[in-house]
Amino acid sequence: MGRAADWLREERRKTLGDWVAFCLECGHVQRYFAELEAEPPSACPGCGGELRSRCPACAARIASAFAVACEECEAELRPAEAFGVQIRRSPGATGSRRSG
Ligand SMILES: [Zn+2]
Ligand SMILES: [Zn+2]
Repeated sequence: MGRAADWLREERRKTLGDWVAFCLECGHVQRYFAELEAEPPSACPGCGGELRSRCPACAARIASAFAVACEECEAELRPAEAFGVQIRRSPGATGSRRSG
């Protein structure tokens, strides 16, 4: 915990005040406060899928419900194209689907 820039990140997190966990299956988002020292459930209350509250690589908490990559180590938190919507804009990729 001795990195020089850490306090800046901590400041930002205190301002935001909360953390999120999201379901990898249905996209359900659950907010929680670290101050309560209670981890959110590991299973989605809606569909029973995996509720991800920490980075799978470094166990950092997740600050944004829309995060697709870990703030700390940039590991993938979930597929960017989850829920049929691409969260990150990728240049040149337009999605017009036609059945036929
Ligand atoms: Zn779910
Ligand atoms: Zn990480």
